[in-house]
Amino acid sequence: METKWLGKPEYANSDVARWREDFPALREIVHGKPLVYLDNAATTHKPLSVIEAEAAFYRRANSNVHRGVHTLSLRATDQYEEAREKVRRFINAASTREIVFVRGTTEAINLVAQCFGRPRLTELDNIIVSAMEHHSNIVPWQMVCGQTGAELRVAPVNDAGELDVEMLGRLIGPRTRLIAITHLSNALGSITPVERVIKMAHAHQVPVLLDGAQAIAHLDVDVKALGCDFYAFSGHKIYAPTGIGVLYGKETWLDAIPPYQGGGDMISSVTFGETRYNDLPYKFEAGTPNIAGAIGLGHALDYVASVGIRAIAAHERDLLEYATGLANGIRGLKIIGTAREKAGILSFTLEGLHPHDIGTILDHDGIAIRAGHHCAMPIMQRFGLASTARASFSLYNTRAEIDALMAGIARVQEMFQR
Ligand code: PLP
Repeated sequence: METKWLGKPEYANSDVARWREDFPALREIVHGKPLVYLDNAATTHKPLSVIEAEAAFYRRANSNVHRGVHTLSLRATDQYEEAREKVRRFINAASTREIVFVRGTTEAINLVAQCFGRPRLTELDNIIVSAMEHHSNIVPWQMVCGQTGAELRVAPVNDAGELDVEMLGRLIGPRTRLIAITHLSNALGSITPVERVIKMAHAHQVPVLLDGAQAIAHLDVDVKALGCDFYAFSGHKIYAPTGIGVLYGKETWLDAIPPYQGGGDMISSVTFGETRYNDLPYKFEAGTPNIAGAIGLGHALDYVASVGIRAIAAHERDLLEYATGLANGIRGLKIIGTAREKAGILSFTLEGLHPHDIGTILDHDGIAIRAGHHCAMPIMQRFGLASTARASFSLYNTRAEIDALMAGIARVQEMFQR
């Protein structure tokens, strides 16, 4: 089987300039200033190859998949299934039977909660999440716990924003049915030691779901090496269109669990007496899927593979170190999330200033950051905050853009000191 190309471990500044050329949105002018886009954890921009692949599908292959015998339908089906193979290769899954196309991370986790969780849970059982989860890895579990009476246990994080793996271990009991944790926190940037968690969980025969919404674009994700049972991610966080994402599940699990939704394509035969379900992964793909989105995702993964995830990670590490060094020199600025293992996310507060004011004023300089609770209210509460300002980096960001951010922050402080 073909192995994944990880790319060169190094990159040059000229590489970054070249990568930037691939993203037309980066040429936007905002309030008269060149766009400085530092909101990549919310969503990433798309390279021209992805934009053109989607358009090309609608121009030349637009048709439904798995249904027609005519040429366009066969083209659409080929391209859609080729995208599935690209995903398989990118995350090193054993088979395309393990790759389910969904709308995004949120839908993937809801699917596991309802199809895997609900039939297995009673009031005697529990599920474990961490304190730094996105709402989409909290609320689906709360809902299924509400439906079944099961308990939701929460593993704590320390003051640096690192998962307390030992405490998590103590929460595992004989009736723990699943551990669902983030691979990389969107609010703090912390990278979870998922290998340790999976080893510990599997020692107790507890399966593990990883929320890879953030990790997928920044870390080398190899589901076979990780041994995780489920892995969820969204296309739009990795340079692909919105409305497409992936649930990876070990074939044994996906085989064992019932479908999520009923409808076309997920069946092999239907009578009013009985319906037989389709093979994997189609059993979980009811209705017409986001065909163009899946094709766009395939092209986005090609793009990332051509740059190389190692080069991307090295560049983003450099940006994070540079930004952290400068941020630490700003009076009144506090970084929230100082884990030793961290990816390109700088969450911070400025003394006496509301994050929304910071975000709004920076926007006038063309600088896009996120201000708010980042759909992770419990971890904000853990740090005694309602919100933070967050700059999140991507392969196309530069040190010059971080200089612009820091100059913008200095202007915000000046304005409020007057
Ligand atoms: N999990 C994490 C860690 C995220 O950062 C996000 C989005 O920000 C999600 C889940 C939800 O992703 P989506 O809205 O694409 O389903």
